[in-house]
Amino acid sequence: MIRSLLLITALWLTACATPVESPTVLRNFEQPATSQEVINFVETAVMTSDNLYHTVIGHSEGGTPLVAVHAADPYEYPDDKLHVLIFAQQHGNEQSGKEAALLLIRDLAKGRYNHWFENLELWIVPQLNPDGSDVNERRNAGGIDLNRDHIVQLAPETRAIHSLFREFNAHVTVDIHEYYPFRESWAEFGGYKNFDMQVGVPTNINVDSNIRSFALNSALPHIEQHLNKKGFSFHNYLVGPAPNMGRTRHSTVDFDDGRQSFAIRNTLSFIFEGINGPDGFIENLGRRTMGQYEGIVALLDFLHAQSSETRDLVINAQEKLKTAQPGDKVAIRMEHFPDGSNLMLPLTSATTGQDTLVVVENYHPLVQSNLNVNRPSAYLIPASDQQMMEFLELHQVEYETTPDLTGKTVFGYFIESIETSLDEELPNRFPQVSTQTFDGSELTEEYVLVTTAQLHSNFLVSLFEPQSMLGLAQRPGHEHLLQEGEVFSILRVE
Ligand SMILES: [Zn+2]
Repeated sequence: MIRSLLLITALWLTACATPVESPTVLRNFEQPATSQEVINFVETAVMTSDNLYHTVIGHSEGGTPLVAVHAADPYEYPDDKLHVLIFAQQHGNEQSGKEAALLLIRDLAKGRYNHWFENLELWIVPQLNPDGSDVNERRNAGGIDLNRDHIVQLAPETRAIHSLFREFNAHVTVDIHEYYPFRESWAEFGGYKNFDMQVGVPTNINVDSNIRSFALNSALPHIEQHLNKKGFSFHNYLVGPAPNMGRTRHSTVDFDDGRQSFAIRNTLSFIFEGINGPDGFIENLGRRTMGQYEGIVALLDFLHAQSSETRDLVINAQEKLKTAQPGDKVAIRMEHFPDGSNLMLPLTSATTGQDTLVVVENYHPLVQSNLNVNRPSAYLIPASDQQMMEFLELHQVEYETTPDLTGKTVFGYFIESIETSLDEELPNRFPQVSTQTFDGSELTEEYVLVTTAQLHSNFLVSLFEPQSMLGLAQRPGHEHLLQEGEVFSILRVE
């Protein structure tokens, strides 16, 4: 008995004394970590630290556990910390975010960043798409692009990250990706983007403007400075084809992805994109991982220093949604516009490998609304619409069953015709509508009442308006909502 106790103690001491190292570092970045290695590493790392524990937040389409690490001071429980949710590798063929998350977990386990816990509480999901990762494929095992699945949420992986977001009540989210600049169109142009890191902030103009400017003007410069000091190059996130072959923008405006789906709830949300390898897999993995790692450390340092300001900013902006007033404007069609400036874009020449600066004239940095609606006080959803009811449940939208509509004015949209419109270069259905007014007591169908005074306020208005370019009717499985010659089934209560 005593001997076995001694043996256990000795083993335990050995486990504590051995520094944990990521499997990928141990083999000098010659292979990325497999999904099983991620699980094993997380289990070992958390055992060595009082500040860490791990849990399984769900299972992938292929049945792999999705592990998440909680990092916080275990002895302090007043809930006044800034909550930061970091998740990596929604896209399985973008390996370096996962590797950087493992190094972060390693260094948190070593106690290197214990000072953060004074102000921060973290959840880290190192690998959201383990099945895609094991075969270096973008999509999950069910063929779904997880980063285009944050509204309908067909994939268990997207549902898992949103559950964690809600339970944790994250104030800040960080979604880690890689970009691949070595495409043919850029090679033909003669140069390619070669930033170690590009970082994006929310761009949908319904996201609180204080949040957008804080992210852009305070957080990004800090990240840039830190990365440069560590020998990594940085650029504000850019999307678009090779210069002047189309518009160059800082993002899209849709909120179906891992950044803006949280941002539309007025969360301070970022996308990190490290540069991928030319082979889209293993080349330069060591440097790619360290770039991502230093980017995350820079942001966490910034958030640690600005924790109460950031927390107040997010809580105030979320309070505005929870107390949103009917009548104010919500943008439902928007577009990127030029601001009169050219972008001086640093590129690497495809022929000489030298740094070069290219003037981008087709630069569209400004997002402006093309169409606004007045926020109603609530929407009415037919209780018999099973799919809509599931959607409300999925997002944990607050609603009232059997509402009393006596004396309420209700508006319906009659869909006169449906045209195809190109917004942000994507075709979508743009209905011409006329409005109909009812007295609430005239309604014979059973409805649930969804107030717009809730965290999901801007999300719901953008989704429930038939003329919205980002509306639910534009999303897979919900197309039937728009029918010519019929009243749109979602009604407005003014
Ligand atoms: Zn990606």
